Amino acid sequence: MSQNLFDRIWDLHTVKTLPTGQTQLFVGLHLIHEVTSPQAFAMLKERGLGVLYPQRTFATVDHIVPTGDQQRPFGDPLAEEMMQALERHTREYGIRFFNLESGRQGIVHVIGPELGLTQPGMTIACGDSHTSTHGAFGSIGLGVGTTQIRDILATQTLALSKPKVRRIDVDGTLGAGVTAKDIILYLISRLGVKGGIGYAYEYGGSAVEALDMEGRMSICNMSIEGGARVGYVNPDPTTFDYLEGRPYAPKGGDWEAALGFWRSLASGADAEYDDRVRFAAAEIEPMVTWGINPGQAVGVGDRLPELESLAEDERATARKAYEHMGFRPGQAIAGAKIDVAFIGSCTNGRISDLRAAAAVLKGRKIQEKVKAIVVPGSMQVAVQAHAEGLDEIFKAAGFQWRGAGCSMCLAMNPDKLQGRELSASSSNRNFIGRQGSPSGRTLLMSPAMVAAAALAGEVTDVRTI
Ligand code: SF4
Repeated sequence: MSQNLFDRIWDLHTVKTLPTGQTQLFVGLHLIHEVTSPQAFAMLKERGLGVLYPQRTFATVDHIVPTGDQQRPFGDPLAEEMMQALERHTREYGIRFFNLESGRQGIVHVIGPELGLTQPGMTIACGDSHTSTHGAFGSIGLGVGTTQIRDILATQTLALSKPKVRRIDVDGTLGAGVTAKDIILYLISRLGVKGGIGYAYEYGGSAVEALDMEGRMSICNMSIEGGARVGYVNPDPTTFDYLEGRPYAPKGGDWEAALGFWRSLASGADAEYDDRVRFAAAEIEPMVTWGINPGQAVGVGDRLPELESLAEDERATARKAYEHMGFRPGQAIAGAKIDVAFIGSCTNGRISDLRAAAAVLKGRKIQEKVKAIVVPGSMQVAVQAHAEGLDEIFKAAGFQWRGAGCSMCLAMNPDKLQGRELSASSSNRNFIGRQGSPSGRTLLMSPAMVAAAALAGEVTDVRTI
C-alpha cells in the first residue's frame, strides 16, 4: 500500500514532533484578511516579534468591505478601522496587500487560486474556516485561529495534531442541473455535520474527477461544514491547466519542475486510508437546505423529514430548525416563498457560478417582490463577467450587480437580511443569524437554483424552469 496525498504533504512539511505529540508543520502560504489578523499582529507586537517570511504572506479585504458604496472612509467606522489596521500592518511588515486599488481584491479563497498562489503540494493557512477550499488543488488548506495566525507570522509553522483521512468516492455521471454544490450538500446530509471531525476528506471518483477546478473548490470549501477541517482532490491535468499562466504560478523551467513534483503527489490506486465511503452520482438531485445547519438538506423534489425518521441525536436540532424556519415535517421544500436571492461567496462566487446563474436568467425577469443581489467573488471575476456580458444579463433580469466581497454570506457589511426574510443563497452556512438578522432564514443551494428561485419567487427545480 502506498501513501495518500495528505500523508505525503504532511511528511514533507513536518519540522519535528513536539513533546505534546503534535506536529510542528511548516506553512508554505499564509493568507490573511482584515477580520482575524489585527489581534494576531497585536500579540506579535506585545512579544516584540516580527514576521519571519513576509514574502509567504498575502493579504486581502473581504468580510467588511461594502459591496455598494466603497468610498473611504467606509460608512461603518468599525469596518474602516479594520481596513486601516490591515493597511498599517501590511505596510509595516512588508506584506503584499491586494487592496481595492489593486484590481485584485476579493474573497481570500477566491483570489488565492485565481492568482496562482494556491498550488498542489502546499500547506496553506488562513484565519478562516473555509480555507479547506484550497485543497481543490491537492494542497492542505487549514483554517486557523488568531493565536495560530500569530504563530505562523512569527515562525511560519503551526502545532497540529494529525487527522485521519477518509476517502469519499462519488462515482458515475451527474444528472442535468446537478452541480458540485449539490454533491457537497448531499455528502454532508449523508455523513453529517459532525461526521468529518478528526478527518481530512479526500474527494475522488469519476464524478469529482470530471469537475472543473471551480466545482472542486466548491466541494472542498464546504468540507468544514461536514466537520472536516481539510478537504482535497488529487491534482491532475485539470489542475495544471487551470494554474498555467496565472500570475504567481511557476514559469519556464520552474513550471516543468513543478509539474514533475505535483504529479508525484497524488494518492495511488493502492493508497491507504483510515476510512472509505462511496456514493453514486446518479442518486444526487439539486439540493436545498431546509434547516439551520448545512446537513439539513433534501433533494428539491423531496419532502422534509418526519422527526421519527431521524436519528435520535438529530431530533432536537431538527425541532429547533422547524421552529426557526416555520416549516413542518412532511411538507415539500419546493414552493417555499423566498424574499431574497443571493449569489456569491467563496463557495459559489466564481465565474462559472455566475455563468450558470446567468444561463438560467437570460431573457427573463425575476419576481418583483424578490430582492436579488449578485456579488462577484473578486474584482477579477467581475472583470471577466463584464467581458462576457453577464452583468447585463443579471441587471436585465432584476438582480443588483455589486462589488466584490463576502457580502450577505456573513453580513459583516451593509448587506443583511431584514427580519424573518427567507433567502435563497449560494453561500455555505445557514446558521441562525448568519445572514445578518437574528430571525432571518437561509436556504442553501447552487447558484443556478438561486436564479430559478428568484424567477419563480419560490424554491423550484432548476431543471423544470
Ligand atoms: S464568503 Fe462567507 S464563508 Fe467565505 S470567507 Fe467570506 S464570510 Fe467566510
